Amino acid sequence: MPNAPIGEFEIIRRIQERASSHPGVILGIGDDAAILRPPADDAPIVVTTDMLLDGRHFTLSEHGPEAVGYKCLAVNLSDIAAMAARPVAAFVSVALPRQDAPSIAEGLMSGMAPLADRFGVCLAGGDTNAWDGPLVVCVTVTGEAVPPGPIRRSGARPGDAVLVTGPLGGSLLGRHLRPEPRITEALELIKRAPLHALIDLSDGLASDLVHILDRSGGLGATIDADAVPMHPDARALALRSGRPPLDHALADGEDFELCLVVAPEVAEGLLASPPAGVSLSRVGTIESEPGLRLRRPDSRIEPIRLKGFDHLASEE
Ligand code: ADP
Ligand code: MG
Repeated sequence: MPNAPIGEFEIIRRIQERASSHPGVILGIGDDAAILRPPADDAPIVVTTDMLLDGRHFTLSEHGPEAVGYKCLAVNLSDIAAMAARPVAAFVSVALPRQDAPSIAEGLMSGMAPLADRFGVCLAGGDTNAWDGPLVVCVTVTGEAVPPGPIRRSGARPGDAVLVTGPLGGSLLGRHLRPEPRITEALELIKRAPLHALIDLSDGLASDLVHILDRSGGLGATIDADAVPMHPDARALALRSGRPPLDHALADGEDFELCLVVAPEVAEGLLASPPAGVSLSRVGTIESEPGLRLRRPDSRIEPIRLKGFDHLASEE
């Protein structure tokens, strides 16, 4: 039997019960709009939004609403981290399948609320609809910039070092559902070092690094094949796909690690004594010659050709 019908107001009331507070949020759920406090010292406000669709970004019947809720908030927090900002308020708009609207709403909240609490984000509003279509979740998160941020994609310079915060590849084996937003890492890094460019790895290191290169005026980069930190999942997936693990580390999406670009001497300092709890690897160098290249362990250099999200042809 389907759940007893619970109206939109009851769903919102339950969500409100789970929402925590934040000094930056004067008024959260319950009025026509939320009221946010202007950040101290005129710090810029950073805003990001992501819409996730059942059947495209997740499969509700397979993953369940708790995992979906977690992921929808986590990917937004990852974008806030990618600006080196501190998250403040989250807004969650949902189109719920009518059949199970209340239990899906509950499940989404069970995934989101602990994550919001862990990163001190206040669930400050949203919109709730039920319909005969699939689940759609749209999350918006605001954040406060931390000086000298926000850090954009556009500040890379030739000679800079390219670093990543963790092992890459194979997230499809399950990690993609529970990404750890690198908020803490980003805030540690911006405190410690002048960051030239920053991005979170949602499409894969190769594609996302190209975003930095493009936004930084058409630069290039060489990635060192043996310096790319390989996640065990990249090796596991390689056994299934028949492709080299490095392909997975470079091209798989949804790692949600950070990729940062810093001056070479800054990279040396960071690698010699990384901020507490931050794992860093130097994977390559920014160059003035446009294009993305791979340096093999035998020093042979070959172009990396991006062939869409799930295939990267870098092999001979
Ligand atoms: P209105 O009709 O004025 O748009 P709603 O009834 O849609 O107001 O929303 C009432 C309050 O509940 C608002 O503060 C809104 O931000 C909040 N809200 C609605 N849905 C959600 C949700 N899914 N998550 C968090 N807050 C929500
Ligand atoms: Mg409304």
